[in-house]
Amino acid sequence: MSGTDAPGGMSLHTKMLIGFIVGIVAGLSANVFAGGQEWLNWVVTYVANPVGQLFLRLLFMLVVPLVFSALVLGVVEIGQPSALGRIGLRTLTYIMVVTGVAVLIGLVAVNVLQPGTGLPPETGQALLASSQANSAAIVEKQQAISGIDLLLNIVPKNPIQAAANGELIAVMFFALMFGVAATVIRSDGTRSFLGAVQGVYDICLTLIGWVIRLAPYAVAALLFAITARLGFDVLSQLARFVGTVVLALAIHFFVVFPLLIKYVGGRSPIDFFRRAEPAILTAFSTSSSSATLPTTLMVAEERLGVPRRVGRFVCTLGATANMNGTALFEGVTVLFLAQFFGVELGLGQQILILFVCILGGIGAAGVPGGSLPVIASILVMFGIPPEGIGLILGVDRFLDMCRTTVNVTGDLVGAVVVARGEPAEETK
Ligand code: ASP
Repeated sequence: MSGTDAPGGMSLHTKMLIGFIVGIVAGLSANVFAGGQEWLNWVVTYVANPVGQLFLRLLFMLVVPLVFSALVLGVVEIGQPSALGRIGLRTLTYIMVVTGVAVLIGLVAVNVLQPGTGLPPETGQALLASSQANSAAIVEKQQAISGIDLLLNIVPKNPIQAAANGELIAVMFFALMFGVAATVIRSDGTRSFLGAVQGVYDICLTLIGWVIRLAPYAVAALLFAITARLGFDVLSQLARFVGTVVLALAIHFFVVFPLLIKYVGGRSPIDFFRRAEPAILTAFSTSSSSATLPTTLMVAEERLGVPRRVGRFVCTLGATANMNGTALFEGVTVLFLAQFFGVELGLGQQILILFVCILGGIGAAGVPGGSLPVIASILVMFGIPPEGIGLILGVDRFLDMCRTTVNVTGDLVGAVVVARGEPAEETK
């Protein structure tokens, strides 16, 4: 994807790393030498924050069209020719269950390891109050998300209003219903509508590629703003976050996948990983499920011997809809930032996060940083300042490589599991 290269010869992730270092070094020096001084507050308020905000706004801008188009297309693809009905159902079940397990592992890891705690609560609260996010509206919203409302809010009264208020679950529900109906009614009208939705999706991917090019500057600005205020404490927090994500991803990769391969797919996990290697390496180096798709398809059909019909369906759909690593990452990030900013999330809200992240794995695009817009809006939904994204952006490239590897491997595991019991030859 266009998101991986930047003009000027230097690759985007090198630039992001530089932005990360510049932001941290400048922020820490400012904190040590000028902490609390008037001019530093001025720089944070009028330079660093606006640059960071610009980036976040551009991401937010893409959320609604991206999630809507990805979900509609995902549902339509599952339901397409009736011959694929059974495979579609199995794939859908696989995606929901295994993604759910992934998010659960992530949520348990954050709750046990508590990577976001450690800052004095007043600091988190102060950050929260000073964040651009309108805290009054958020408090109101948080009170609204409780009990039976939790369920009722899934169904929007007015989809446009839901989109305007950033109620992501409601938008997702609407998109799912839309996709189901578009699958049932196959007229010229729906076909051309779906063509247009595909167009919206493609455009969103291109725009994400452009927006991501701003990331190095946003990383520098957002990190400067945070480290100038918090100093060294924030760094150890970040290291704990990376450790938690990597540990949770590793559990999913090295425990859940082998169990699925062995007991549901009926194959040897070691042999599976050996054969899957080209896709695993491509995913790790590109950070993009979509860019890896050709390799994934080749591996599924030629190296793993999955029937073409099944492999093509599961892997193509999986490249955008089956993202175990991304969903896990979304869950960990949201809880980590909630801990970091001192936002209390009860069990009910965490269960809601679980479901939102399962859908978030479907709604994220398979490009580098594709989950960032989704995370930004989940944060807002739960009253956590979206500026927190700045904290994780600097380490995102590495985590993106890791989670994309889990995403792509999950597609291949899915292909093997769904193919079990299917005739080897195409019957239709
Ligand atoms: N880079 C991921 C993928 O392509 C998506 C993400 O989590 O940002 O699978």
